[in-house]
Amino acid sequence: MTDALVSVEEHRERILAAIHPLPAFDQPLMEAFGLSAAEDVHAAVALPGFDNSAMDGYAVAHADVSSASAESPVHLPVVGEIGAGQASLLAVSPGTAVKIMTGAPVPAGADSVVPYEWTDRGVANVVISRAPEPGQHVRLKGQDVTEGDLLVEAGAVLGARQIGLLAAVGRASVRSRPRPRVVVLSTGSELREPGSALGRDSIYDGNSFLLAAAARQAGAIAYRVGIVPDQPRAFLGSLNDQLVRADLVVTSGGVSMGDYDVVKEALSPLGTVWFGGVAMQPGKPQGFGTVGEDAVPIITLPGNPVSSYISFEQFVLPAIRRMMGRTPYTRPEADAMLTHGLRSPDGRRQFARGVLSVVDGRLAVTPVGPQGSHMIGDLAESDSLIVVPEDVTWVEAGETVTVLPLDEDF
Ligand code: AMP
Ligand code: MG
Repeated sequence: MTDALVSVEEHRERILAAIHPLPAFDQPLMEAFGLSAAEDVHAAVALPGFDNSAMDGYAVAHADVSSASAESPVHLPVVGEIGAGQASLLAVSPGTAVKIMTGAPVPAGADSVVPYEWTDRGVANVVISRAPEPGQHVRLKGQDVTEGDLLVEAGAVLGARQIGLLAAVGRASVRSRPRPRVVVLSTGSELREPGSALGRDSIYDGNSFLLAAAARQAGAIAYRVGIVPDQPRAFLGSLNDQLVRADLVVTSGGVSMGDYDVVKEALSPLGTVWFGGVAMQPGKPQGFGTVGEDAVPIITLPGNPVSSYISFEQFVLPAIRRMMGRTPYTRPEADAMLTHGLRSPDGRRQFARGVLSVVDGRLAVTPVGPQGSHMIGDLAESDSLIVVPEDVTWVEAGETVTVLPLDEDF
């Protein structure tokens, strides 16, 4: 590792420049849920598709019932009945009514619907004791969506409401970018699978779960491969096995200056992966490049749990979003008042863990614990990162800082 550190932006830009949006294809609607559309979708049909009743009641010509009141109700013969889904040739000739259900097409000759509540619910004849407004209780064709309307713009995320709308206009599929397949490998001979016995010298592998869950939250399909020992051959073997199903590989551990830094040791000879330092804390040792015949991108993160998570936030999350065609790549920032003083290393951007609150109507943030990069308990308690610039070594309580809220959709 050279001494010169690259900036957070430089490292991220390099990653983003080498990673491309995944090719879009037609996907069934439910597969497309949560993805971004890769086409403008226009309405092929109008909504409603035909004039239909908004109530259960009687379809009438307004002129026939305009005088109806409780004191002098109007009597009309009922000439038929139309339920939802029943196209009908029935017409309402002057002086008659047709029984109609919600969603059923309004017959020719009728322009208004009298709800059951204003009638005696008569079968052969109906007594109407209140007049609707002209056109009342009729949902007109095209009132909601006009044929040709732009419903979803390319790049928009397909949430529940958009998926529902596309189905409502008859679309069965939509061109969208798939979820990237992200393989997560954690390295470390000290690691054990949760649920197994722990020796005095071993720890549970939290990172592969942390990173796989974070990748899934970002929208990816995450494959957690789990533990690889600190042996370059074993690491390269596992990596090779995984490349067929990876759009991106993320590793944890083995990238710093130790004697057993397996990721660095195994990948450096390939010459396709850069290892170096990024001017941030935690998370200084980083790596990025490509591996295998298909040049699959690989982002190698440091092993300390907090370093690994913050590195994910800064570098992997933007990469996943870029592959999915989602913008912005990075989380929206906010300003918050720092409630307690915070020390920060010179020359490195600090991402401290914080808890947000509202003090006197203003967003405030409280640093969590002593900010060690192994403090996963504090990480789980936090809901935001406090960003302290490279040239700042101390922030006074009461000053405004930039925060990255971690639990918001964007
Ligand atoms: P490394 O980057 O491999 O030197 O690891 C740095 C520190 O993080 C060491 O204390 C490791 O034991 C710890 N660590 C590495 N990988 C994991 C992991 N998957 N889960 C929890 N802690 C880890
Ligand atoms: Mg290690």
